[in-house]
Amino acid sequence: MRVLVINSGSSSLKYQVRDTESNEIGATGLIERIGEGAGGPANHGEAMDQVAAALEAGLAEKPLDAVGHRVVHGGERFSEPVLINNEITRAIERLNPLAPLHNPANVLGIRAITAKWPDMPQVAVFDTAFHRTLPEHAWRYAVPDSLYRKYGIRRYGFHGTSHEFVTARAAELLGVPVEDFNAVVAHLGNGASLAAVKGGASIDTSMGFTPLEGLVMGTRSGDIDPSILVFLQRQGLSADEIDTLLNRESGLKALFGDNDMRAIVDAAEAGDKQAQVALDVTSYRLAKYIGGYHVAVGGAQAIVFTAGIGENSAAFREQVVARLGALGVKLDGAANLVRSGSPRVVSTPDSAIAVLVVPTDEEQAIAEATAAVVLAS
Ligand code: ADP
Repeated sequence: MRVLVINSGSSSLKYQVRDTESNEIGATGLIERIGEGAGGPANHGEAMDQVAAALEAGLAEKPLDAVGHRVVHGGERFSEPVLINNEITRAIERLNPLAPLHNPANVLGIRAITAKWPDMPQVAVFDTAFHRTLPEHAWRYAVPDSLYRKYGIRRYGFHGTSHEFVTARAAELLGVPVEDFNAVVAHLGNGASLAAVKGGASIDTSMGFTPLEGLVMGTRSGDIDPSILVFLQRQGLSADEIDTLLNRESGLKALFGDNDMRAIVDAAEAGDKQAQVALDVTSYRLAKYIGGYHVAVGGAQAIVFTAGIGENSAAFREQVVARLGALGVKLDGAANLVRSGSPRVVSTPDSAIAVLVVPTDEEQAIAEATAAVVLAS
């Protein structure tokens, strides 16, 4: 099946055509500055016209069978990918308050396709869906129940498409049926989150009500004392200023001044003290979470690294694993340095828990999920 995968942001639209039989990547592209003037498309409809124009030559030869949308927030309703109709689109729209930066753009992307190709099957694949198996003790915050009932304040978790994809491949690599597989999965990109996977299902995850909670990320603080927000508000900062501070000006960017892990590792190796502090804070927080999730899953068979930093930064993996000695985890120094696009083991045979590097591919995961839903409908 030929699937157009759409990932629409508030001012950008990423697309990729995937063939789910051959796994071949067709046209791929990024349209930016939507609605920002300066010659960019005025809205998501115009952006879709540009995508269609870019795809036109290829589509004449091999038409599309379906469109798969990455949708950030599926709330409590969506635990699986779904075939989109008007009611589903409105349900996604009703979740806008939970993901004000993302879901409105996802809905615009869906409506733009509906307007352009009314008969095209469309599927929504949710970033939150894999975490719908979290037990209440993991999703509930210790705050009055009215906050949950009135505003839906609870842990949702994100990066689910990636965590699920990587979990399946890691189990396959180790020859373990996924339903018997316990692991801690670390998706470490600009955004970063961990999933505690027990029997192939997510039972805890480090991102919460929003993607701000948890690990130290490129520009996000991750966990901090919530009183800091109240304190800053009393100092006169507005809600928007605090939001920007914690989401865009914190994390590695705040600790080092740059959120590119390559620059941080290079600087630390050259003796830059701030860079080493940034690595220490980030790897320490991650190691603490890994220890906690090892307990949560009742003993992990594997610790899995994925996404930009997890797949590419041998130095960062080394820093993290060096903090896991109490768990009997041992990295194979030479295997860790190998660069490859394939899933691989980077721990020694006598390591108490296997350490894996498994490349993620959210587009492939969305294309496969889309094809499965369309075939079943
Ligand atoms: P996202 O999809 O969340 O934007 P990615 O998964 O692409 O992010 O990851 C981006 C991060 O990966 C950046 O911090 C970047 O520095 C890091 N990264 C990419 N390549 C390498 C590399 N070769 N070595 C170290 N870090 C890398």
